[in-house]
Amino acid sequence: MSAATLAAETARRLREAASLNATLAWSEEALEAEAALAESVPAGPLSGQAVAIKDNIVTTVLPTTCGSRILEGYRSPYDATAVRRIRAAGGIIAAKTNLDEFAMGSSTENSAYGRVRHPLDPERVPGGSSGGSAALVAAGVVRSALGSETGGSVRQPAAFCGITGIKPSYGRVSRFGLVAFGSSLDCISTFGVTVEDAATLLAAVSGHDPLDATSRAVAPLELPAHRDDLAGLVIGIPEEYFPEDLDAGVRAGSDRVIARITELGATVRRVSLPNTRYAVPAYYIVNPAEAAANLARYDGVRYGVRRIGPEGDVRALYRATRGEGFGPEVRRRILVGTFALSAGYADQYYGQAQAARQRIIADFAAVFASGVDLIFSPTTPTPVFGAGAKSADPVQMYLADIFAPPVPMDLPIKVLAPECLAGIPAMSIPVGRSEGLPIGGQLTAPDMGEASMIAAARVLEAAIDPAAEVR
Ligand code: GLN
Repeated sequence: MSAATLAAETARRLREAASLNATLAWSEEALEAEAALAESVPAGPLSGQAVAIKDNIVTTVLPTTCGSRILEGYRSPYDATAVRRIRAAGGIIAAKTNLDEFAMGSSTENSAYGRVRHPLDPERVPGGSSGGSAALVAAGVVRSALGSETGGSVRQPAAFCGITGIKPSYGRVSRFGLVAFGSSLDCISTFGVTVEDAATLLAAVSGHDPLDATSRAVAPLELPAHRDDLAGLVIGIPEEYFPEDLDAGVRAGSDRVIARITELGATVRRVSLPNTRYAVPAYYIVNPAEAAANLARYDGVRYGVRRIGPEGDVRALYRATRGEGFGPEVRRRILVGTFALSAGYADQYYGQAQAARQRIIADFAAVFASGVDLIFSPTTPTPVFGAGAKSADPVQMYLADIFAPPVPMDLPIKVLAPECLAGIPAMSIPVGRSEGLPIGGQLTAPDMGEASMIAAARVLEAAIDPAAEVR
């Protein structure tokens, strides 16, 4: 298919999918310009593909709003490195996708531009915060898309939408042009209809970038050779991710995969990640602290929208711009983060959270050092939830991807945050359906272990029918 035909096809599909509210910007002119660019580069791994981009990744051709009023109409003077690499690999940029404001959320209901609908049921959420990208891939508008993970924002919507989502090792993909949220956690991550789609996009955008000081000095990811089975691998099953009150459908889906893992020749080993219980409390200190610092730049002077307060001085300008420009979840994180970093409290909160983070990192290191190659678990503890089900209560939303505490006074366990706190790669693949809605299974690998994780995910993908009811 020529790039011009691809652009026209993509425009038609985007129009048909409009009711999902998954996009924040796209245009026929922009698609035509992308097609012209694609004709001018040599054929590459993304030739013939349109890729959707989460709207916290900057582009010059379309605006970047982060789902926030404060950046309404903002247009970046440069393209993110990942966007430049997609074009260099032959791909075209399809659209900017809707997200929870500044990527804060788990349902894509926090966008200032309206919620995203689940492609299989408009009354349900697609997950978040990268819900727009996930919905477009699941609806078949594009084969792959960029999202971002700070604490699960690609794996969780991938699980909810029945597609693949890969969060790479921290530093594997340049953050240059990814709007900063929690800088020690943020990773550009990929969605695909299949494992191959998500992995191909990840490989194309990976590799060292001198423009990002935290980018790792390693060669771009090479896609692994095909494996027939899982022979020789040891796959760890962490007991903390399978509490007694785990949703029955989610449990059935994971049990089915674990049985297949054994049939496919791998050794299954029960393992423990005892500090998983500290992941949610540590995450919800580290994340708001870094967010509060990063979001200080939206002051009405340098970026986006400006409101002049009644007093007309600079403080009034900050107050009016930030008060009107940020939604409630963003304001809440700035308040929590500012408090957690304030004089006299920083050691008690931020210092403690960093100590907990070190323990979580050590848990994973110990499991992998004991001879475990990969870890398998459910991606989320609950199936897809309804719009409005958790959005009224922020704490419920923070707990959206955790297991209810099995013991009173025990701290809750979050499935998605530990891998982000540890900076290690993890991915979700569809493993079946429960009451008609997708559920995901997760593979986690040691630092920079994406290739073996992807190779194993392909084997599981071929062995599991994602459309089958698991109960
Ligand atoms: N639910 C997490 C949060 O709200 C997800 C954030 C993310 O990964 N972008 O912080």
